[in-house]
Amino acid sequence: MIGDLYADEELERLDRDALRALQLLRLKKTVEAALLTPFYSKRLKGVGITSAEDIRTLDDVRKIPYTTKDDLREAYPYGLLSVDRSEIVRMHASSGTTGTPTVIYHTQKDLDQWTNMTVRSLRATGCTKEDVFQNMMTYGLFTGGIGLHYGAERLGMLVIPASSGNTTRQFNMMKDFQTTTVHATPSYMLHLYSRMEEMGYSLKDFNLKRALIGAEPHSEEVRQKIEELFDIDAYNSYGLSEMNGPSVAFECTQKKGMHLWEDAYLVETIDRSSLEPVEEGEMGELVLTILIRTGTPILRYRTKDLAAIIPEPCSCGRTSRRITRIKGRTDDMLIINGVNVFPSQIEEVIMKMPGIGTNYLIKVRKEGTLDKLTIHTEVGAELFTDNAQDLHNLRRRIVEELSASITIKAAVELHEPGFLPVQQGKAIRVVDERGSVF
Ligand code: ADP
Ligand code: ZN
Repeated sequence: MIGDLYADEELERLDRDALRALQLLRLKKTVEAALLTPFYSKRLKGVGITSAEDIRTLDDVRKIPYTTKDDLREAYPYGLLSVDRSEIVRMHASSGTTGTPTVIYHTQKDLDQWTNMTVRSLRATGCTKEDVFQNMMTYGLFTGGIGLHYGAERLGMLVIPASSGNTTRQFNMMKDFQTTTVHATPSYMLHLYSRMEEMGYSLKDFNLKRALIGAEPHSEEVRQKIEELFDIDAYNSYGLSEMNGPSVAFECTQKKGMHLWEDAYLVETIDRSSLEPVEEGEMGELVLTILIRTGTPILRYRTKDLAAIIPEPCSCGRTSRRITRIKGRTDDMLIINGVNVFPSQIEEVIMKMPGIGTNYLIKVRKEGTLDKLTIHTEVGAELFTDNAQDLHNLRRRIVEELSASITIKAAVELHEPGFLPVQQGKAIRVVDERGSVF
């Protein structure tokens, strides 16, 4: 395969024509593998694709029907294997945020290619072999933990496979081993900070330089808050198990969107209703095809994640286009008395308030025929104990800002630090008592 002729550093900086040529070759190879799976052989033959030769240009990808999470469930457990099961060396599953998990299988070669991508992603954030890497994402079927582990080792970092939870132990290790880089959900980073003082630690006990944050939607305000609280750089990391896991897209040190590694993924953005492509630069649902995995090939996967492709080249020189921060999942969107709101829009408003704490929860219920939205948010310790008038003003400001920026009327309740529940994995930000609970 032509990609094997390039060193990974070259792949990151291939000119766009060479990148597209490589994408086409890899797409053909992926279609060839897909035709060997029970699921896709039927699906592709149904639209007249019987061999990789039916894909002549990259635009021909549009002949292929979309794949949804339900399709993957239908193919459960082995309907998407393109190789003999004896060639498979590992499986992962999605964390099941929205239902039954889906399973992905990897050959050794698939894992090697994925590791290349994670090495590249870590390097893009400035990580080197001098770094001590404390991986606070859950190890197991979920790809967050193991996903970056092997890349970090290959880069030569000292890897601490801490996994998630046990905040006391995380702090002890951060101090004892002088951890420079952590990988965690943004909500866990905020939680860590909120527990630091009470556990007898202060920033000067640590040697932290950067945090890689991902696995859940978060706003620019949350990133900045994490950076300010810990005095570090925080980089956004996007991935999903269907597309391997972490390292689909990663921020470089410019911090202006995430490079979606296009030699490994074909990216499209589509309108959620018409399912037609949106213009480059416009927000749409990300549709991804993985080009570096044959164990479980997945073509045109509808991620339900909303983002826009950033067409302008990045000043770092990497040639893969970037995507914006994920605005949310389509199924996270709340409809409040007819107004569409993403939790991330509410988060933006809350998190820029001075004196605000590190955790919040959005609750929705019916009051008569109307939807009633209540935002519960913690405030910083000083503000909570000091001054009732300041609290009152803060509450009023949040209500006003929400109404001005997203035209929704919400009740706001302020709580002391530590009041709201904290999850081990992905944060639960919304409790919708009108029917379903996310
Ligand atoms: P599940 O679909 O069960 O949550 P995964 O564990 O594979 O399965 O999670 C992938 C999803 O997590 C993505 O589709 C996306 O919605 C969310 N996600 C991952 N990284 C980010 C990120 N950096 N920003 C926003 N959302 C993210
Ligand atoms: Zn860049």
